[in-house]
Amino acid sequence: MKSILIAFSVLLSLISTMWAAPVKVASLSTILTDVVREVGGDKVTVTGLVKPGVDPHDFQPSPADLKKIAEADLVLASGLGMEGYLSKLETSSGGKAKWIEVGNRLKLPPLKLAHEEEGGEKGHDHHHHDGESEQDPHWFHSIANVSQAVTVVEKALSELSPADKAYFAKRAADYQVRLEALAKWAKLQVASLPRDQRKLVTSHDAFQYLAHEFGFTIYSIAGISSQDQPSSKKIADLIKTVKVQKVKAIFFETTENPKVISEITRETGAKVGGELCADGLGTGAMGTYEGMIRHNITTIVNALK
Ligand SMILES: [Zn+2]
Repeated sequence: MKSILIAFSVLLSLISTMWAAPVKVASLSTILTDVVREVGGDKVTVTGLVKPGVDPHDFQPSPADLKKIAEADLVLASGLGMEGYLSKLETSSGGKAKWIEVGNRLKLPPLKLAHEEEGGEKGHDHHHHDGESEQDPHWFHSIANVSQAVTVVEKALSELSPADKAYFAKRAADYQVRLEALAKWAKLQVASLPRDQRKLVTSHDAFQYLAHEFGFTIYSIAGISSQDQPSSKKIADLIKTVKVQKVKAIFFETTENPKVISEITRETGAKVGGELCADGLGTGAMGTYEGMIRHNITTIVNALK
């Protein structure tokens, strides 16, 4: 009788392993939505709460989003202050999910956010620009950092579904190979750009990790967004810098002020280099992490050549 019971319980556990429910993941980062899909495959169901093109700094969860969070096993966020609303959301969610701020678990070069001057904070939608010494939360512009994030996500999934550990490990390893190839490709592209042409003028302070990895100097127009009018002094300073540094092109993001960009290009003769994904994935070809990196690197290199 006892052996029958044991055989029965072994069979039950085998069945439950084979039919293990997928890990439910809710993601507040478009980058991590892509990463967890790559690592988790069909052993996860992923809800991307912050959609491509939506400002992750200033996301307003809907009642449907809150329901998804309450049902989730795992909630992923970029961390490092990217989601200014995070602790409030975690407290009010009332779910049983494990919350991971992935950026907080990475070994990062100490890149601090530039301090904003002269009331640039007013009406600004980027809460993380408040302090003088905060770590820059846009860690995903370095492929090496995303590679670390893959390991963080793999570990979290394996803890939540130990039966699928080998499955997650295999998928993570395959993805790492692709990220390595992507990093090699990016390095080769940037290598075609002379060092003294690696100057990046962008609308918000998001590309420090990319600059650090590839030897760019950043002249950020931090503070320029659709909600924030930069002072005329700030614009004048920037125009001077673009002229002195002989910057060939400046880049924009969807949210910034086109009038300022056209003023700078008119005054300096620099051209508009194109649109960059700053805060996360875009749509179409920019809808995956690999696609976003290819888009950003190609846009930068083509414009500055
Ligand atoms: Zn940002």
